[in-house]
Amino acid sequence: MRQSIWQWGLRKALHGVLRFGDMGIDLGTANTLVHVKGRGIVLNEPSVVAIDDETGRVLSVGDDAKRMVGRTPARILAIRPLRHGVIADFDVTEAMIRHFMRKVHGRRLFVHPSVVIGVPSGVTEVERRAVVDAARQAGAWQTQIMDEPMAAAIGAGLPVSEPVGNMIVDIGGGTTEVAVISLGGICTQRTMRVASEAIDEAIAVYLRHEGNLYIGESTAEQIKINIGSAFPLPKESTMQVRGKDLITGLPRKIVVSSAEIREACAEPVGAIVEVVKECLDGTPPELAADIMNRGIVLAGGGALLRGLDQLLSAETDIPVYVAQEPMNCVVLGTARYLQQLDDLPFT
Ligand code: ADP
Ligand code: MG
Repeated sequence: MRQSIWQWGLRKALHGVLRFGDMGIDLGTANTLVHVKGRGIVLNEPSVVAIDDETGRVLSVGDDAKRMVGRTPARILAIRPLRHGVIADFDVTEAMIRHFMRKVHGRRLFVHPSVVIGVPSGVTEVERRAVVDAARQAGAWQTQIMDEPMAAAIGAGLPVSEPVGNMIVDIGGGTTEVAVISLGGICTQRTMRVASEAIDEAIAVYLRHEGNLYIGESTAEQIKINIGSAFPLPKESTMQVRGKDLITGLPRKIVVSSAEIREACAEPVGAIVEVVKECLDGTPPELAADIMNRGIVLAGGGALLRGLDQLLSAETDIPVYVAQEPMNCVVLGTARYLQQLDDLPFT
């Protein structure tokens, strides 16, 4: 008996050393975040990889690569491997995961962390295996994949293991994921490839049609973040926008109002409202009643669009709340899940 307690202690201590540096990763369509046990969120960079089209060599990843988007010469490609919520390119995704994991742990060879990775729920079984392989190659000791809506719900602080219906709406760059969770499982789920980037595109199209102005995707995103909204604002505003005149081809600037931009965004925003309604429609009555009482929680960068909570609430007649730190929910959810694994007793 005495010996087995010693053995247990030794194993636990060894385990503590080996598990040093456990990581939770949010592999998002727009941004990748990494949380390291005991250190918090240590990395938050765009999910972008720049490669040389001729040699296939990876030139840069993350922030450095994003700066190149829209500014690359012909032979450099800026790739966003998860853009549409599926893995478009295995090799590039692997390179990205390896780069971020190594960046976090440097060259500390003795670190073999456990890793939990949150991926969009549209990612297939084969693609999940590729993600696990990439993490192993980067030095992970063991890797688990977690569905993003579950991670987002846990990270938003929802009581997912209780027998009550919780609705989470995660609006990322490329995908909107709606899920109803109860007793630790997903009961109803909808995924749509219309999210924040579709709003950027809608703004760009609007300015092309209504203002004869050609703008790039970063400018469109900036307009959305500065003056975008889904519901009439208490104080409407305007913004000066620079782009290229469609007719003369020369640089030009115009002033746009928040009301115009709201009109521009109406279609993708409407699609987000519809997918939430659809998920509610497919939810069993007991769970739907819980959601009516407890409300809907929004996560992901799209949750920061002004007035989206008000619009959703007006359209569904259900209270809607934006999670605290909506863009960190998924990575915090993976970290909390790792912590739970850690707390499990040894057998
Ligand atoms: P993903 O999980 O798919 O990587 P994120 O949850 O990181 O996506 O969200 C990224 C999206 O959030 C981007 O398209 C960005 O434009 C959008 N976003 C970030 N901040 C805001 C804001 N304040 N208002 C509206 N959209 C925002
Ligand atoms: Mg996300």
